[in-house]
Amino acid sequence: MKRMATGSWADWRWQLRHAVTEVTPELCGFGLAVQEAERVHRRYPLKLTPYAMSLLSRDDPRDPLNLLALPSSGELLAEPGMVADPFAEKTRAACCHGLKRRFPDRVLVMAHDQCAMACRHCTRKGLLKGAEVVRTPAQLAAAVAWVQAHPEVREVLLSGGDPLLLADSRILTFVRAFARLPQIDAVRIGTRVPVTLPMRVTPELARGLGAFKKVWVNTQFNHAREITPEAAAACARLVDAGIPVSNQCVLLKGVNDSVEALFDLCTGLQRIRVRPYYVFQCDPVAGIAHFRVPLRRARRLERELAVRVGGLALPRFVMDLPGSLRKTPI
Ligand code: SF4
Repeated sequence: MKRMATGSWADWRWQLRHAVTEVTPELCGFGLAVQEAERVHRRYPLKLTPYAMSLLSRDDPRDPLNLLALPSSGELLAEPGMVADPFAEKTRAACCHGLKRRFPDRVLVMAHDQCAMACRHCTRKGLLKGAEVVRTPAQLAAAVAWVQAHPEVREVLLSGGDPLLLADSRILTFVRAFARLPQIDAVRIGTRVPVTLPMRVTPELARGLGAFKKVWVNTQFNHAREITPEAAAACARLVDAGIPVSNQCVLLKGVNDSVEALFDLCTGLQRIRVRPYYVFQCDPVAGIAHFRVPLRRARRLERELAVRVGGLALPRFVMDLPGSLRKTPI
């Protein structure tokens, strides 16, 4: 899709209104086989904004950004050991509606069940539909009361889905509710919006979030080409508002599983003042097995990257293990 010269392109709501959510003939131009894409789409729906589509390649179906955004038959492969919910996110009893706890000092609040893009490598791809989300003032009040009753909790993670797809007033209500508690040192927002819908990070939103002086943003760039001028500007608005921004990328076969790709990503992030924080080993989730990189290769990449970049640009290579109370170094 051609970039539009009008103001609509810079309007995040326009981008969402014009998102492609069906397998259209236009997608064939990106090397997509329609029948295959429709089969995948029935199980794992498609969603692509015009902005996200503008980054795709028409020449190379194996282009890393195409792999991140377009359905592929690999998602339907039945691989042993791959399950929809390895960390029991859906089945683990909630502390109260929309609030879950896996680690002692922090809790996850499900703030939204929508995202700007249906990432093909998403570890929650089977979990968002029907997820328990905090929607009403009463549910938010109950979540805050639960945190207050547990003074050992010092960090609240707003996630989903993508919390930054909510209206400004809703986002600020969430943050305010937790940030005002003296026990809370940080309200962390997990969002891919700076990558997939950077125009959503408006100056007003960035200033509003920065004013709390407790907000941290974790985002997820997986490839250096995602660091567009728009994405860099979105991150700059957050950083300039006093918000620390870190990146948690996922190690993905065909996307960033080479030392060159990781070098370009990490140095590119440092250049825009986003800290390369974690490289995650892809979780054993059904529908993303084709993205998994063998552990031995991941370890080698970590060693090779460590001799190419200094500590500030060097992420930690980790994996989540079911039942573990920490991120495990690979
Ligand atoms: S933005 Fe995050 S939660 Fe949403 S589809 Fe992408 S990876 Fe999954």
